[in-house]
Amino acid sequence: MRPVRPASRPPRTTAPVPALVESSPVSLQFELRANPNPRTEAEREAVLADPGFGLSFTDHMAVATWTAADGWHDSAVVPYGPFSLDPATAVLHYAQEIFEGLKAYQHADGSVHLFRPDQNAARMARSAERLALPVLSTEDFLASIDALVAADRAWVPSAPAGGAGAPVQNEQSLYLRPFMFASEAFLGVRPAQRVTYCVIASPAGAYFARGVHPVSIWVSTTYTRAAPGGMGAAKTGGNYAASLVAQQEAAAHGCDQVMFADAAEHAFVEELGGMNVYLVTTDGELITPELNGSILEGVTRDSILTLATEFGLTPVERRVGLQELIEGVDSGWVAELFACGTAAVVTPIGVLKDASGTHTVGGGQTGETTAALRKNLLDVQYGRAEDRHGWLRRVL
Ligand SMILES: *Cc1c(COP(=O)(O)O)cnc(C)c1O
Repeated sequence: MRPVRPASRPPRTTAPVPALVESSPVSLQFELRANPNPRTEAEREAVLADPGFGLSFTDHMAVATWTAADGWHDSAVVPYGPFSLDPATAVLHYAQEIFEGLKAYQHADGSVHLFRPDQNAARMARSAERLALPVLSTEDFLASIDALVAADRAWVPSAPAGGAGAPVQNEQSLYLRPFMFASEAFLGVRPAQRVTYCVIASPAGAYFARGVHPVSIWVSTTYTRAAPGGMGAAKTGGNYAASLVAQQEAAAHGCDQVMFADAAEHAFVEELGGMNVYLVTTDGELITPELNGSILEGVTRDSILTLATEFGLTPVERRVGLQELIEGVDSGWVAELFACGTAAVVTPIGVLKDASGTHTVGGGQTGETTAALRKNLLDVQYGRAEDRHGWLRRVL
């Protein structure tokens, strides 16, 4: 049974930015202005042989400009290249910026699909409202992505080897990064009257190049990433900036990642710097912290809530005490713990560390449920399992 989620979408108090629908009555076209100097096939193949993550970019990018006077305009797919920014560009000073992250997956038959991109569009619109940026319609968001993927089709890594049931490896994809920022050159503090939207694409290799291994997590009670009324539910660079020093603290304690608690009491689990968190309990519950306005509403998190019942688990969204978590790990009630997000899909957590010491989850191994959920999500994304929920959008 899927619990009701009244707290998931707190009221949007930010006044809408004016002239959105009015000034953009026609949907945007992203016509291709082809790159006259694309990388050679040999250069591209060299990148695709070992893409890593976020290191190399394709030959094109999608762009659009918004001004208070004219709304969205000047949309196109253009050669990938640097922006020229005035030193007074507002985003460099006041961080009025939002972004998204999603992937294009190539199936065995050569078709290319996105996973729930409408959810990314909707979230980008919510992020835009919170950051007082103009909303880009779902239609325009999808059009920009479709056009870029079509232009850079050759950069979508080929389907993983093996059919259904094959070990989940080699899960390469084309990572897509839509973002929007205040591009007006003005030092006054107010929402920018000129905004740039852009989508770049980067071939991504398997997140766990050497197989899936549980990560270690430092539970920070020194730093928080987001507070009630703040920007935690928006996908914005500022939240990441807030997480970096905590990540350094985690590394100093020998941990891979950091887990944040709530800002008010440091007593409740929120999420990692860029991934949501799930507990698998011996009662057959799949528990994730409820959305409280400072947790980012992950598409992967939401998909797992939907998949839970298919795995015989009861999805639960509720507050999770840090103490409850640590004691549950120590007692074994928390049988598995994992993080989830688009980039790494599902990442098992083997160890929690905090001021009280080290707490090993489920013997430090990847749990069965964690592995099964991970495999099921990947199988749907790569077309190896039935898409029961209509999550895939075919692009090519
Ligand atoms: C993007 C992000 C996630 C994961 O969201 P997905 O839509 O599943 O990729 C989780 N937490 C934060 C802070 C994020 O920025």
